[in-house]
Amino acid sequence: MDKKTLESFKELLLKERERLAVEAEKANKEFQILGEDRPIESEEKASVNIVLDVLAKLRDQGNKELKGIEDALTKIEAGAYGMCEECGKNISEARLKVLPTARLCINCKEIIEKREKIDLLPEKIKAPQKVSLEEYTNLSDEDLTETIFEQLEEDGRVDTSNLEVLVQAGRVFLSGSVSSEADRQIILQLIPDNIGITDVEDKLEVAESIYIADEADSKPLDHLELDDDLEEIDEEDLDLD
Ligand SMILES: [Zn+2]
Repeated sequence: MDKKTLESFKELLLKERERLAVEAEKANKEFQILGEDRPIESEEKASVNIVLDVLAKLRDQGNKELKGIEDALTKIEAGAYGMCEECGKNISEARLKVLPTARLCINCKEIIEKREKIDLLPEKIKAPQKVSLEEYTNLSDEDLTETIFEQLEEDGRVDTSNLEVLVQAGRVFLSGSVSSEADRQIILQLIPDNIGITDVEDKLEVAESIYIADEADSKPLDHLELDDDLEEIDEEDLDLD
C-alpha cells in the first residue's frame, strides 16, 4: 500500500473515532438523565429500563468499534495495517475502503462465516450420511458427473450455475467458476467425502473477488459503513424527547 493511501485510511479512522466519541458522550448524558433519582410511575420505569438497555447496547457496540479503530491505528503505526490476521495476506484496498477496520481478507472472512453457519446447523444436516463407495464404483463417467452435481445440489451451500464438471476415466476435472474460495473448498471436500473420488483436477476460478473489487472501487473513500443494527437503534431509539 502506498503512503498516500495509508494516510487516507488513517484520516478515515481518526474521523470515525471522533464521531464515536461524540456519540458516546451523548449516550452518557442520556444515561445520567434517565438514571437520576426521581419519583416515577412503575409503567414509566419499565419503559425507562428498555431505553437504558438500548443505550447500554449502543455503548457496548460503540466501545467495540472504538477498539477496532484503535487496533487499526496501532497497526498503521507498526506498519502492519491491511494484513489479514488469519492468512497474513494483504486485505484488498477495495475491502478496506468499505471497512477500514477489517481484520480479515474477504476469503478468510467467508470461510469463517461459512464454518460458523455450518456449526449452527442441526447435527443431522451437518454430518450427512457418508455414501458408501461401492455405490459409485460401477457408474459411468457421465453418471458420476451427474452424481457430483446431485450431491452438490443436495448439500445446497454452493451455487453450481457456473461450475463445470467433467469425469474421465474416474478422474474429476473441475472448471468454470464459483463465487468464493469457501465454495471451492466445499466442492473439493465433498467429492472425495461423499463420492469417494480423490483424483480431482481443480481449475476452478473464484469469481467474486474480481466482482467485489470492481464494485468497491467505485465507492467514495469518505464514508464508513456502519453496522446496520447500530444505525437503526441510533435513529429510532436514541431520540428520547
Ligand atoms: Zn486471509
